[in-house]
Amino acid sequence: MLRRLSPLWLALLLSFSPLLGCATSEERESSAPPSTDVAQAPAPAPDTPGPSGPASPGPMSAGPTPPSASPERAAPRAGGATQLASNEVVGVKSAKLLAPEMAKVVWLAREDSKVMDHITALTETIGPRLTGSSRATKACAWARDQFAAFGLDARVEEWGTFPVGFDRGPWSGRMLEPEAKPLVFCTNAWSPGTSGPTAGLAMKYPTSVEDVESKASAYHGAWVLLPSGAGAASQPSGEERQKIDAALDAVGIAGRIRGGRGELVLTGGNYRISAEKLPTRVQINLRGDQLKEIQDLVAAGKEVKLEFDVQNTFIPGPVPCSNVIAEIKGTDLADEIVIIGGHLDSWDGATGATDNGTGVATTLEVARLLAKSGVQPRRTIRFMLWTGEEQGLLGSRAYVEKHKDEMPKISAVIVHDEGTNYVAGLNATKAQKEILEPLLAPLGELDPEMPFRIKEVNALPRPGSDHESFLDAGVPGFFWIQEGRSNYNHGHHTQYDTLDAVIPEYQKHSAMVIACAALGVANLDQKLPREGINAPRGVARGGRRFLGVSTDEAMKVTQVMEDTPAAKAGVKEGDQIVKIGDAAIAERADIGNAVRSAGTKTTVTVKRDGKDVVLLVELPARPESAPAAGGDAPAASRPAGP
Ligand SMILES: [Zn+2]
Repeated sequence: MLRRLSPLWLALLLSFSPLLGCATSEERESSAPPSTDVAQAPAPAPDTPGPSGPASPGPMSAGPTPPSASPERAAPRAGGATQLASNEVVGVKSAKLLAPEMAKVVWLAREDSKVMDHITALTETIGPRLTGSSRATKACAWARDQFAAFGLDARVEEWGTFPVGFDRGPWSGRMLEPEAKPLVFCTNAWSPGTSGPTAGLAMKYPTSVEDVESKASAYHGAWVLLPSGAGAASQPSGEERQKIDAALDAVGIAGRIRGGRGELVLTGGNYRISAEKLPTRVQINLRGDQLKEIQDLVAAGKEVKLEFDVQNTFIPGPVPCSNVIAEIKGTDLADEIVIIGGHLDSWDGATGATDNGTGVATTLEVARLLAKSGVQPRRTIRFMLWTGEEQGLLGSRAYVEKHKDEMPKISAVIVHDEGTNYVAGLNATKAQKEILEPLLAPLGELDPEMPFRIKEVNALPRPGSDHESFLDAGVPGFFWIQEGRSNYNHGHHTQYDTLDAVIPEYQKHSAMVIACAALGVANLDQKLPREGINAPRGVARGGRRFLGVSTDEAMKVTQVMEDTPAAKAGVKEGDQIVKIGDAAIAERADIGNAVRSAGTKTTVTVKRDGKDVVLLVELPARPESAPAAGGDAPAASRPAGP
């Protein structure tokens, strides 16, 4: 099938066309991409702009590095000549800015992309990759082997341990009475499963301890529906709630059922559990509309029988957690580094396809494209796949901590972690933009439907991913701007984060753009400037404000990040966030929204030991113009915090 060719691609093809011809697919399998040494090719037609030869390599030049392709590889067999009208390339002004060796990367990315193979293997063969799970360990070894197979130096580097590992087995649930139907749900990671299929009556959450005791036999073995929506506000909280929960534990319920947001089932979990005292409360996170339906049936006096079968396994710790690191050594500036990466770990309610299989797949593919092209970058290009990202950027933070001496030598860290939309640009400071714009703007011409821009910002955005660990160490940490038709929030941490959400043409394009950008940045005459990458203290970094907490679905604080507004205000683990300013907090998205719209001084109301406690919070000033945080990161569904 013919693919629509962009003008730039046509230009590249034309410049190779005397060599290239039109290979059949079998021929393509075996034929090598065109030589990077365009100078050896017959000169393009006079009206063909084409990539410039080595005489004027332009900003993306590989500098002194000679092309590496051998003569055999450099001469693909010619088939029937492709007739390309030269007028199709007229007007591609900046195509000549792409250095000759870039053409080979582009050729490979177009004609021989493996990016979907990587993500298919990762999500379908390995599956979800919760940090501290057996599959995460497997994924690390797999990724290392992939890099090694591409010819890179690759290794797995342990960054720490989790107290208890967790493996999720299969899970299923259904309503048995009054109607048989399947239920869509998940359980949190590091939470217990059932002992086999467990059927029980659905019971309303009790109003008091007496309520539990008076209906002890009914509650025994029951699935207890946690109040949601308007019902939640009138429920007991704090100390009373704890007593009720203890009473429910004492009568021996099957578990608790909480509703998700609409039809989304969110997955989360708190890894900080102790092996000595493993969690025992089974909690089902059910689709919100299904919980509502069950609540309505129960309220109408119907007998509702539910059955859940959840096979969760705790792994005795400490469980080692690792990052995967691979690199293509640089030439004259080998001790300087450009890092391309994403996080290998995922939540485990689905297969982590867009968070962040998509970033893993492009990172692998960029490594493969660059290695196979035989390019020799001036600086070392390092590929990093971190784990522990979902628990607070743990793997990247530990890496930065352990390799402090490297930080001054890192020119840039560029993270791909916002799903499957195509890579559409970078946010950069003014000084960085002056360098990056002429270098990377031509990437927007690779496909007219996928533009590319460098957007000037006051400070590099912090949407919550691993580049921030490097920003904290003063290293330029970038997060790709991504655009396109995919709705990131639909899959982000939900049951829909599966391979079918991935858009192949975007993945292919992104890998190509990232490969070219990595090479371009690695070949610059200087490292990227690092002044002004972080907003001054007191200003929201990158235009994003955050409270600095992780919460469970009940808005109970599971973690308070150090040195954040929440920590300074005295928010504690176990607090339940009720209000920020005057805004009621019912779900995580409310926290982000309230924090963004609040003044610099506001209050956070938490339930602590049954009492409302009002804490004063100071938030950073909002910058004049809030930059798009890496393409408007999904504040709505990210945990409030990194
Ligand atoms: Zn992510």
